[in-house]
Amino acid sequence: MKIEILGCSGGIGPGLKTTTFLIDDTLLLDAGTGVELLTMERMLNIRDVVITHGHLDHIIGLPLMLATIFDQHQQPINVYAHPEVIAALEQHIFNWTIWPDYTRLPEEQPIIILHKIDVGDQLTIQDKTIDVLPSEHPTPTVGYLINNGQNSFVFTGDTGSNDKLWPLLNQRKPDLLIIDVSFTDESDHLARISGHLTPSLLTQQLLQLEPNPRIAITHLKPGVEDMIMQQCRRLLPERQIDRLHQGEVITLD
Ligand SMILES: [Zn+2]
Ligand SMILES: [Zn+2]
Repeated sequence: MKIEILGCSGGIGPGLKTTTFLIDDTLLLDAGTGVELLTMERMLNIRDVVITHGHLDHIIGLPLMLATIFDQHQQPINVYAHPEVIAALEQHIFNWTIWPDYTRLPEEQPIIILHKIDVGDQLTIQDKTIDVLPSEHPTPTVGYLINNGQNSFVFTGDTGSNDKLWPLLNQRKPDLLIIDVSFTDESDHLARISGHLTPSLLTQQLLQLEPNPRIAITHLKPGVEDMIMQQCRRLLPERQIDRLHQGEVITLD
């Protein structure tokens, strides 16, 4: 399985794109500003989009991509998200004010089909099974465990402390865990109220994780990336822990 990191920042700036992962060229996991890095041809290859939650940094690339490929697309793109996220997309994005309603365009065969998913569902998308995982964030949010039969990885979505997650991971033993640590320990209060982890909160959470997968930290706030990683490494010397990098291509095989 090939996971291309088009964006993994908790903000924007030169060289920084927000959460966007492209899997095996055809499955998009969140649609942040990283979508901007795809050529027309690569956008046209995307068949399915799974969304963790409706925050702008995870969806903004989707409406812009649809407008870009609208004239050339051949078959509808399936978009999967929590029912409240689907409702928000319909009400607040595809409402003819913010953006055209691509759920009805073109009339004969709309360019997207919206699918409602929820925690506990297991989806079969292309050659993969995708488990929908619980998350803890101020808006309905899910994580995903993506398995191609040989390898698997987990993306937590944006999340704070999430005790429901760990028993599932102990059972399923993913090869890779991509997890949100947005803030340093100095910003503990902000992290807690905004539903993100700090290195210390991550350390407490990982006490519940029995296997020892590769761990990749994502959604770091611009400017404090190095400090977050120093704190993570100091607190978790026994874990295989790295920062997720934009432009990186992870191959699981
Ligand atoms: Zn969020
Ligand atoms: Zn976010």
